[in-house]
Amino acid sequence: MKNKIVAGNWKMNKTFSEADDLLFTLAENLKDVRLETEVIVCPPALYLEMAVDASEESNFYVGAQNVAYAEKGAYTGEISAEMLRSADIQFCIVGHSERRTYFHETDADLAKKVDLLLKNEIVPIFCCGERKEERENGTYFQVIKSQLENALFHLTKEEFDGTIIAYEPVWAIGTGLTATPAQAQEVHAFIRKLVEEKYGTETAYNTYILYGGSCNAKNALDLFTCNDIDGGLIGGASLVAEDFMAIINAAETAISND
Ligand code: PEP
Repeated sequence: MKNKIVAGNWKMNKTFSEADDLLFTLAENLKDVRLETEVIVCPPALYLEMAVDASEESNFYVGAQNVAYAEKGAYTGEISAEMLRSADIQFCIVGHSERRTYFHETDADLAKKVDLLLKNEIVPIFCCGERKEERENGTYFQVIKSQLENALFHLTKEEFDGTIIAYEPVWAIGTGLTATPAQAQEVHAFIRKLVEEKYGTETAYNTYILYGGSCNAKNALDLFTCNDIDGGLIGGASLVAEDFMAIINAAETAISND
């Protein structure tokens, strides 16, 4: 039986006091419960320290939403992997489609980010996924393969073992259009096959492949019970404690039904 991971991506949401409230509620809810699911909370950078403090009294990890592609120096506004490490951050989302689209991040940038995170012992949560037109014209397997090959598969087996993959079809992110369990499972199995070809069967089995894209309390269980879906990367539904907790509970149910 394999555990699940549920990670919440708050994106650019919450004021300071709202972040404090949500972290407090999550910390209270997750405190003293024995979970098989690993929970990761990824708030905006401004609230990372607050999140680390809250996590120390509770049962979740903290992740950043982004990291600089350069090591240090004159990069106004950026935050380095070393800085994240020094603030006790253990995970970081890389290659979210919003960053690829609005901030023009390329696979080459993402490969550098992955390398710097691993160098600083931070687990990259590497996002891949196709756009609507790529789903419709049937090129989605090629798109995902090239995202993985260009930004992740340069890693050695040992390095790759320290990563998490999130499959996030762009057409499903924030749109309410969730991939069906069959659509998601098809791509997750494809990703696991690619990992197996590159790194072998054991690594492929051990790799966590999360689904992201309008995952919510209603559809989480159906998604999480698919063979190759090891949990979720949750956007909108991670902003409300009750909804996020329901998704964590769905992961727990999926594990116990396994
Ligand atoms: C995300 O931003 O990673 C995401 C999956 O968003 P949402 O759940 O809102 O679709």
